[in-house]
Amino acid sequence: AASGVPRLRAVLDDVPSYVPGRPPQAADGVTPYKLASNENPYPPLPSVLDVVARAAADANRYPDMLATGLTAAIGAHDGVPQEHVVAGPGSVGVLSQVLTAAAGDGDEVVHAWRSFEAYPIVVRLSGATPVPVPLTADGRHDMPALAAAVTERTRLVVVCSPNNPTGPVVTAAEMDELLAAVPSDVLVVLDEAYREFVRPGAGAPDAVALHLAHPNLVVLRTFSKAYGLAGLRVGYGLAHPAVADALRKTAIPFGVSTLAQAAAVASLEAEDELLERVAAIVAERERVAAALAEQGWPVPRSEANFVWMPVGQRTAELAAACAEVGLSVRAFAEDGVRVTVAEPAANDRFLEVAAAFRRP
Ligand code: PMP
Repeated sequence: AASGVPRLRAVLDDVPSYVPGRPPQAADGVTPYKLASNENPYPPLPSVLDVVARAAADANRYPDMLATGLTAAIGAHDGVPQEHVVAGPGSVGVLSQVLTAAAGDGDEVVHAWRSFEAYPIVVRLSGATPVPVPLTADGRHDMPALAAAVTERTRLVVVCSPNNPTGPVVTAAEMDELLAAVPSDVLVVLDEAYREFVRPGAGAPDAVALHLAHPNLVVLRTFSKAYGLAGLRVGYGLAHPAVADALRKTAIPFGVSTLAQAAAVASLEAEDELLERVAAIVAERERVAAALAEQGWPVPRSEANFVWMPVGQRTAELAAACAEVGLSVRAFAEDGVRVTVAEPAANDRFLEVAAAFRRP
């Protein structure tokens, strides 16, 4: 028998590993802050932790595979029938379920770029080919170019709004335009991971109404960002019942833990308190954006809990300047740095680094 490495799928040669945000290195005498993964800086509420502790007592049992209580709570919250709701292990888990259901070898998946790093990875894992469409110069989705990239091989178009890492939303009119241009048998995913941070006047679509009107639209939402449960892995999709059925079939069995389901339900119940924190983060984002503009930075209009510093060749330099004072940020080589908006002390420290950094 031949010795050596077992044969693995050739496609893996083209798939980089997902690189998560790094924990910050403690600098001398200062609190380090992780601003690299767009997490919520606030820990779960005591009421949520209580529910998680109680749920942990049932950890000898498998979770409810259909997350019945959670999908009912989400349906009531978002105003959709429960059968439209599919819970998954983070919204990126639901995106994998969409890909398993809709795309494979020889297919194409169109998405904006730069956008969420996981998109090209999960697309390649499905066997399909990612078709990246460059953002406009101001960090927005180029909707005509996205529509023009659709071919007879396209099975899915992924739209990220607000876009990670640049921050702008896709407007209601732009979504209408895209949905009118894309054939109705091609799925469109609207990833709204950061939706709770969007200003009411930003022009974002009513995604619930949009998915009710367009059976080919799947909306992705998460408990990781505004609800502060990134470590528990729970997100969901809203989809036409036939699509939702397919997404339940393509789920990894028991992918959403009992703890995650309970925490998500408790977070919806504590929504008012959590949305106060969101409002505080949004106020900080506005303060950070205004200060950066005053410093002369050409920062795109962010509707999320991060800001994008388009520093190009000086990306590593800016990330290093942040690291030196205990801030871990996300550097995208030769392109820019994404900085999570967190508690005021962390944001102040970032603004000091930005002020001292040579302006473009
Ligand atoms: N979509 C976008 C646009 C994101 O930025 C992220 C998290 N970085 C996700 C999805 C994944 O979130 P979740 O924790 O729900 O898998």
